[in-house]
Amino acid sequence: MRNLNAYLFATSPRDAVRLLHTTAGRGCYLAGATDLMLERRADLDFVVDLRRAGLDDVVVQDDGALRIGACVTLNRLESDPLVREFAGGAVADAAAACGNRPVRSTATLGGNICSALPSADMVPVLLALDAVAHAFDGESTHDIPLDEFFTGPRRTVLDGRLLTGLTLPAPQPGLVCLSRKLRRTAEDISLVQAAVAVARGGNGLGYVGIALGAVAPTPMRALAAEDILLRADPEEFEIAVAAAAESAADASDPIDDHRASAEYRRAMVEVLTRRLLREALGIDPTAEDPVHGGLR
Ligand SMILES: Cc1cc2nc3c(=O)[nH]c(=O)nc-3n(C[C@H](O)[C@H](O)[C@H](O)COP(=O)(O)OP(=O)(O)OC[C@H]3O[C@@H](n4cnc5c(N)ncnc54)[C@H](O)[C@@H]3O)c2cc1C
Repeated sequence: MRNLNAYLFATSPRDAVRLLHTTAGRGCYLAGATDLMLERRADLDFVVDLRRAGLDDVVVQDDGALRIGACVTLNRLESDPLVREFAGGAVADAAAACGNRPVRSTATLGGNICSALPSADMVPVLLALDAVAHAFDGESTHDIPLDEFFTGPRRTVLDGRLLTGLTLPAPQPGLVCLSRKLRRTAEDISLVQAAVAVARGGNGLGYVGIALGAVAPTPMRALAAEDILLRADPEEFEIAVAAAAESAADASDPIDDHRASAEYRRAMVEVLTRRLLREALGIDPTAEDPVHGGLR
């Protein structure tokens, strides 16, 4: 960002959109700047700092949904009592596992999502919980299901709009949400991420969310795997879990790079998804896997 002509502070969401669209030259929004600084962009004439724009609310709505402002930092997500209480603390736990404490003290939820990296660590848990993103164009706000938000690596549907925040629908009674990621070192980006959310309902499961990160051009929901579990009879949960994990691995589209092979990442999608689902459904972790045999 060495060629900046102007560093602008927005005082409201409307002001942010106005500044971005009426200032001469090429600009972008800036929140915690932890991704932007790494990008070292030389093409920017100005930035619009969002940290005074009033996007840092955390609210539980009357219907039990959790609304999180785009500029809420990852440290705040980790410790905020409303976030800790929501969905068993799954969002707070995912935030605590991002980067290190100095990074989390300034990195925001909105920045993590809008960077649109395939490996953005906050996204799988939000996808599994069926999050809705709010995009503001200066006049009106559009609600976009998070699984329609990403169009490719570093690309989103925003097109100059401001992400004002996210809403997570009220969890169904008894919902369990768990996420896990694999990476080479504590500071490295994720090789594989998986998140699951399940709630019993009727004669089986009333809600299933399965999401993956770092194994496709964008974070993704494994919809076919979710469907297998939604149709499963409780007597056959163990078999359905194994089939759903295989389906999630089939749906992934990982890359080969210096961090790991595509084959390894796909195999780990299956392992992580199966383990998380078994844990979420309370299946004895020492029980023999009904499909593969042996302890899984
Ligand atoms: C040392 C280090 C370790 C890290 N570790 C991790 C990790 O473990 N996991 C992980 O996922 N990430 C990690 N990151 C990346 C980064 O910290 C996160 O992605 C962070 O959440 C980005 O948020 P930010 O507020 O800093 O975004 P910024 O850098 O301010 O912005 C990122 C992008 O989003 C856009 N943007 C920001 N807010 C909005 C908005 N409200 N509306 C529209 N566009 C917006 C900006 O224009 C920019 O393009 C790490 C970074 C560093 C430097």
